[in-house]
Amino acid sequence: MRHNFGAGPCILPQEVFRQASQAVLDFKDGLSILEISHRTPEFEAVVTEAVKLVKELLNVPEGYSVLFLQGGASLQFAMVPMNLLSEGQTASYLDTGVWANKAIKEVKYFGNAHIVASSKDANYTFIPKDYSIPEDSAYFHCTSNNTIYGTEMFSLPETNVPIVCDMSSDIMSRVIDVSKYDLIYAGAQKNIGPAGTTVVIVKDEILGKTTNKIPSMLDYTQHIGGGSMYNTPPVFSIYVAMLNLRWLKSKGGVAEIEKENIAKARTLYTEIDRNPLFKGTCAVEDRSRMNVCFVMEDKELEKEFLKLAEENGIEGIKGHRSVGGFRASIYNALSITSVHRLVELMQIFAEKHQ
Ligand code: PMP
Repeated sequence: MRHNFGAGPCILPQEVFRQASQAVLDFKDGLSILEISHRTPEFEAVVTEAVKLVKELLNVPEGYSVLFLQGGASLQFAMVPMNLLSEGQTASYLDTGVWANKAIKEVKYFGNAHIVASSKDANYTFIPKDYSIPEDSAYFHCTSNNTIYGTEMFSLPETNVPIVCDMSSDIMSRVIDVSKYDLIYAGAQKNIGPAGTTVVIVKDEILGKTTNKIPSMLDYTQHIGGGSMYNTPPVFSIYVAMLNLRWLKSKGGVAEIEKENIAKARTLYTEIDRNPLFKGTCAVEDRSRMNVCFVMEDKELEKEFLKLAEENGIEGIKGHRSVGGFRASIYNALSITSVHRLVELMQIFAEKHQ
């Protein structure tokens, strides 16, 4: 058995793979999902259901639109300021790592970025907490889960400034209060579905205020008007995302998966803290429930442990090059059995090297 701990694209439920492969062969009357028009009623029903599932699973209030776009979370780094910032205005950003920085980099094309706080000096091993957001910021941007460093934001700052959040790697993993946010975006390829589409949840009233001239494909309002079909959407990605969201609903929804995610994370962090060979890399209160980063006290042993893990079906635990060590991503579809297997190998390894 393979245990996929990859950071993204990542594990999805086996039943979703089976249903998706069936639709490649026969989606409707012998036609493949890959060959049908996006304008068919059958595919329009897929988009409608996918949007409905996002709204249901996250309890999205009235007054918000849900979009399935393209260009990854990376395009959102630019679309956000293009749609929400006007020349001369400033947006505030919390610097919690590489992805936050990539978002900050795009702001300069449209206005100014003010960094409210950064944990760069500590290689992003914690989430800064004591900072203030200038009242005149057009919006405040944060990254709820820092995939590379394994930190997660469990609380939001108190502010009247609109909050924009990159939730690429923890959306659908825990209950959130969408009404606290003005815009949420997430590349699909973690807990939503396969790569190729990006979910945006936007409060309608924040749009249409910028003085920027926005090209149609980059304008949220155009996509809302087109029902995520302003142009040909990524049909297959949206279809598989819809299947995966159906799976999540059948599991009891986000509140239920959150319980499993807490149990998986606790199991792994407990072993990291107990096992003398391993240590966690992040501030305990900011530890991510999605990406568990850890290193070995003795760096020389890391290669050997990686080899043991790979020989035993553990995939994708090599840490990001900027952190080193290991990163075990434990997204929604990864079972606790896989986490137990990894923990067991850590224990076997520790016994061998006592
Ligand atoms: N933000 C976060 C938190 C991410 O983890 C990633 C990619 N893993 C991105 C943004 C970039 O996403 P994409 O590759 O979809 O542009």
